[in-house]
Amino acid sequence: MKGKQNNIDRRNFLKTMGAAGLGSVLAGCKGKEEEQPDTAEPVAEIEPEQTEFPHVPQRILGKTGIKIPCLALGTMFNLIDNQIILRSTLKYGVNYWDTSNNYAGGNSELGIGKYLERSPEVRKELFLVSKASRARTVAEVEERLQLSLERMKTDYIDLYYAPHGASDPAQFTDELKQWAESAKKRKLIRFFGFSTHSNMAQCLTAAAKLGWIDALMTSYNFRLMQDPQMQAAIDACHEANIGIIAMKTTGKTTISRFRLALETAADKKLIEHLLQRGFAQEQATIKLVLGDERISCACVGMESVAVLTANVAAVLDKTELTQTDREIFKQYAEATCSGYCAGCAEICNAALADLPYVSDIMRYLMYYNSYGDKDRARELFAQIPARVRNKLLSTDYSTAEARCPQHLPIGELVAEAVGKLA
Ligand code: SF4
Repeated sequence: MKGKQNNIDRRNFLKTMGAAGLGSVLAGCKGKEEEQPDTAEPVAEIEPEQTEFPHVPQRILGKTGIKIPCLALGTMFNLIDNQIILRSTLKYGVNYWDTSNNYAGGNSELGIGKYLERSPEVRKELFLVSKASRARTVAEVEERLQLSLERMKTDYIDLYYAPHGASDPAQFTDELKQWAESAKKRKLIRFFGFSTHSNMAQCLTAAAKLGWIDALMTSYNFRLMQDPQMQAAIDACHEANIGIIAMKTTGKTTISRFRLALETAADKKLIEHLLQRGFAQEQATIKLVLGDERISCACVGMESVAVLTANVAAVLDKTELTQTDREIFKQYAEATCSGYCAGCAEICNAALADLPYVSDIMRYLMYYNSYGDKDRARELFAQIPARVRNKLLSTDYSTAEARCPQHLPIGELVAEAVGKLA
């Protein structure tokens, strides 16, 4: 009965959407007869209520006990003139909106505020998440929170991250813990955590021992899945019942994909394999992450309704990835590792004591080359202190390159970043 219901969901979804192009995502169900899925237990998901539009499945967010959609809207873009994406998410039960006080120079939060001003009744349906970007003190965290509340026209934020982009467990201070407790008592936030895309394993391992982190957002994708330290850190957080949200799920490279695609046989192999299986690559990477039962949700930047509907279709599709699918992604990760910065900043920072910005620069170049988000990449690059930027081209990166586990050509990429972002 359940399988029948799911088939009906997919059929109705296509019918409702009239969505050309989604066939490549949903056609994945054809592969089910060709190969048996993994023997692992399927991930426990909560079947959504039936509505006119099918809603994405929900999962529990760790110790919060809150049901959230397994797909969240990442909003690193201007929402003031893109209200349609907010409205569209709600049709599919994607009621988890992730923003930050610095996304699109504040225009992400202001866009949410514009929406909630017009439709205040929507607020109670939402799980709203924001972050204290570039806050160095608890006083700055408080300032950022107050600004976010004001911009978004809301009295509270469901989950608040500070730091935004944690890179060192030393940032999880007692003072921050007291602030988080105070913000909860004042009913300004419901839950507290942090986001991280540098030194993730260290930050997660430390968080698991703290006892006052409700949920966190970390980079996690088919590449990082191969890292035993990352696996152990996610295990520790899962055992501590911390809700885990995955971001950067597509595993985009710092080096432009076009350049890699022409160079690696693994890339062609992956593309051909996914084509045969009927999966679009980005949607397959989301399914791969959500196949990990420790992950509550994949937070994905979705600036257009077309991308949203493709991703919704992917998470609604019940075709499970097979062991062969996973193995091919693993081979692809290995073959293209020299194009991907894994965020292990402590390694290159130790070799470049005066220049602890390499992993940030690699990420900004990824935004430029793989996301096509040139303005954001330049804006972030401009925030690197001038004394560091002035030294970038005259620095010797050979020691950092020798230690880099991904074998990134760091010097070459830094030079490319300076040329494109400065
Ligand atoms: S450049 Fe290399 S060592 Fe530095 S964070 Fe990236 S992958 Fe790790």
